[in-house]
Amino acid sequence: MKKPNIVILGAGYGGMITATRLTKQLGHNEANITLVNKHDYHYQTTWLHEPAAGTLSPERTRMEIKNVLDLNKINFIKDSVVEIKREDKKVILENSVIDFDYLVVGLGSEAETFGVPGVHEHAFSKWTVNGAREVKDHIEYMFAKYNNTEDKRDELLTFIVAGAGFTGIEFIGELSERLPELCSHYDIPREKVKMYVIEAAPTALPGFDPELVEYAMNLLESRGVEFKINCPIKEVTETGVTLASGDEIKAETVVWATGVRGSSIIEKSGFEAMRGRIKVNPDLRAPGHEDIFIIGDCALLINEEINRPYPPTAQIAMQMAEVCAENIKLLMKGGASLKTFTPDIKGTVASLGGKEAIGVVGTRKLFGAQANFMKKMIDNRYLFLLGGPALVLKKGKNPL
Ligand code: FAD
Repeated sequence: MKKPNIVILGAGYGGMITATRLTKQLGHNEANITLVNKHDYHYQTTWLHEPAAGTLSPERTRMEIKNVLDLNKINFIKDSVVEIKREDKKVILENSVIDFDYLVVGLGSEAETFGVPGVHEHAFSKWTVNGAREVKDHIEYMFAKYNNTEDKRDELLTFIVAGAGFTGIEFIGELSERLPELCSHYDIPREKVKMYVIEAAPTALPGFDPELVEYAMNLLESRGVEFKINCPIKEVTETGVTLASGDEIKAETVVWATGVRGSSIIEKSGFEAMRGRIKVNPDLRAPGHEDIFIIGDCALLINEEINRPYPPTAQIAMQMAEVCAENIKLLMKGGASLKTFTPDIKGTVASLGGKEAIGVVGTRKLFGAQANFMKKMIDNRYLFLLGGPALVLKKGKNPL
């Protein structure tokens, strides 16, 4: 009998965990498993604010796929997905075309601009390894350039973060923590540097406990960050940002972190989607498709308690991957009913740079060093799930 082709698109949190689970659950002769990713490495998106601010080497956030997955059991293709031909059961890659019997789409997300002009042209908005490198190099260049120009324009040392959600806060936390070192290294007086976080919503870190939000904002303000809350950005320009009020803040650095939409491949492939995310069935299949699973940031799942989508997180992507792998196995064995996915939110912890963080684990609020310890443990836990103790020793973080 012909072995079914299981194709996984994207080697992020969702794709990697699906791949490891399938190789454990299926015998060698039961299926051909193929993983497609645009790079030959997997990276931890949740760590990228650190290399972007220059507080961690990008090497620590990534690992070669061949060192983590058993390539005797999985066929890895380094290529970019161009389109999914749903009805033909084919995936068009830049350099070839592959057939699938079961497809797992875990292509992650792209920046959501909310229609604000100029984001792609003038802001840094790519939360990838290369995107993080670009931000870090640019920031350092701004510091180096300042003392080397006659006019010493303030905008060279003005750093704007658009969005006070998780990503924006974690990034400014790292940058503000690194600032004394940057100023000392480049001989820049600290008061010359301006850092703004601009948020359209009425609060920073929407959805977080207000006491934790206050802690985070006070800490960041004490490091010189200025918050502009309830303050939508109208346009990003070559010289900075224009606010809805009409005011302009001049800056040579705008980092965009206002949230994400699902991979553009979703809409390009004709799936019905909201902001690039497919509202999946409870078993994680795309509506109308018996053999296509959508996981991670490409999937939209409604939290019935508040009738709003769950935020796209690595935590949910990994949990989806576990259920997705089980459901593929059930389908292959001819099972009529598949497992329903229910997120089990264990908590959320946001780092604030240095040894500072905030978070909720279970029902417990955590601040400062305690939250920081928990954050590092969460980071290490993922490495453990993916590659066992050896990967934790190689890439893990010291929680103390
Ligand atoms: P990803 O992990 O983004 O992986 C997608 C993969 O697909 C990538 O390897 C990419 O290279 C590949 N790919 C994309 N397009 C193509 C293509 N066309 N062809 C081939 N390959 C392609 N979540 C948390 O739970 N906790 C946190 O603390 C947290 N912190 C975050 C901090 C930052 C700075 C950011 C940016 C995000 C954070 N998140 C956090 C969110 C989390 O990172 C995402 O929800 C998670 O990465 C989604 O996993 P995924 O598997 O769907 O996609």
